[in-house]
Amino acid sequence: MTQGAGPMNRGGGPMGPGGGPPRGGPGGPSVVTAPQQQGYAKPLPGIDEENKPFWDYAKKHELRMQKCLQCGKIYYPPSSLCPHCHSWQGSEWVKLSGKGQVYSFIVARRATNPAFAKEVPYVVAIIETEEGGRLISNVVGCKPEDVKIGMPVEVLFDDVTEEVTLPKFKPAS
Ligand SMILES: [Zn+2]
Repeated sequence: MTQGAGPMNRGGGPMGPGGGPPRGGPGGPSVVTAPQQQGYAKPLPGIDEENKPFWDYAKKHELRMQKCLQCGKIYYPPSSLCPHCHSWQGSEWVKLSGKGQVYSFIVARRATNPAFAKEVPYVVAIIETEEGGRLISNVVGCKPEDVKIGMPVEVLFDDVTEEVTLPKFKPAS
């Protein structure tokens, strides 16, 4: 396991530092002992009908996003409405290369949840995939001060529990 949280999304994806309220309260024993967490104390993604495919593919170590059947653009977070052309025509889950770049990022230096206390400082970034979709995740595998806007990154998969795998990103090799 590496550092920080996984990708977040507006629709209730995995919550990182500064994200939505973690399930079970603001951290502490109740979160640690939740049966599905198996010792993993950080917030886990809120998986629902719409975003479940994303997490199912992540578990198989595939980064997939929806491609609009109308305009052909890749988008995230998961939705049945295309945010580009507002079509309800549907989408297909296409496999991405896993490569992208840092679109924006912050360095978290204080833990907003006790579960992250040992992780600081860590990087929470918006990653723009080379296919176009953007997601919020962590950049790991380098020092926070080495992260730059536009830095090429590639996905890695962090199996944080038996049920949940968080796509994270590291400097491209
Ligand atoms: Zn569209």
